[in-house]
Amino acid sequence: MTTTFRFAPSPNGELHLGHAYSALLNASLARRRGGRFLLRIEDIDTIRCTPAFEAGIISDLEWLGLRWEEPVRRQSEHFDAYRAALKRLIDGGLVYAAFMSRGEVRAYIERTTGGETAWPRDPDGAPHYPPVDRSLSVGERRRRIEAGHPFAWRLDMASAVAAAGTGLSWCEFADETLGGSQETAADPAAWGDVVIGRRELPTSYHLSVVVDDALQAVTHVVRGRDLHAATSVHRLLQRLLGLPAPSYFHHRLVVDADGRKLSKSLGGTGLRALREGGATPSDIRAMVGIREAISPSALSRP
Ligand code: GLU
Repeated sequence: MTTTFRFAPSPNGELHLGHAYSALLNASLARRRGGRFLLRIEDIDTIRCTPAFEAGIISDLEWLGLRWEEPVRRQSEHFDAYRAALKRLIDGGLVYAAFMSRGEVRAYIERTTGGETAWPRDPDGAPHYPPVDRSLSVGERRRRIEAGHPFAWRLDMASAVAAAGTGLSWCEFADETLGGSQETAADPAAWGDVVIGRRELPTSYHLSVVVDDALQAVTHVVRGRDLHAATSVHRLLQRLLGLPAPSYFHHRLVVDADGRKLSKSLGGTGLRALREGGATPSDIRAMVGIREAISPSALSRP
């Protein structure tokens, strides 16, 4: 099978040095392994993602010397594929309609714990969704949906983990040369009942990413450490949907002068600003610790 890498930015802001590192690393691994390098635009959030940000991302990546296979996959053009995957989970009874707003969740937790006992939180720090809607009767659920109550589709995590069976793990590489690897146990339950279909969309980040990695035959997912815990959910969805499991490497994050992770509020680390301030692509490579220059001709494959 052809080795395939991808860089998958969301066009809801400008690229910063952290994105540059991730894109350059993926492209350089693809080149060294004679593999494919894909660009995927993760724009399911059609309100926060804009064509202007997308154009800026493409221009910055080209300026860095990167080339990728065309056509670029743009997630907002593939809602049907995600809807079909969501339907499989609905038909399998593995997701349920979740009606509570964020405020209602907060109030429920406050009432239940009296502010005293700890309530479980997911690896991103959000409280687990309360076990209320999961146990609504079929009739009540139908009544609310027919009455037009807004809802998201949440994974019934306990049922999903049971359906997936044992031995859920992934192959995680040890370093950025993809030299060694070790099997890492997945712990999807740490997330509670995650959102699989958002209120206004037939998908979520987790669902789109696993559907697309499979459709694009991605063999190596190389992305930031901040997504390490999310891989547990991805492995679970892959198992439930019968999709192949790529190998993973969760790379270091580029940090600012104070050691903090870079965010969309760029500071001095935005590629556009660095470019306009006179930095060259090789300055950027040096700043993120990728030494080798990437020759566009080595990357553009017919
Ligand atoms: N679109 C995600 C982001 O920009 C990356 C998803 C991934 O690499 O799996 O953070």
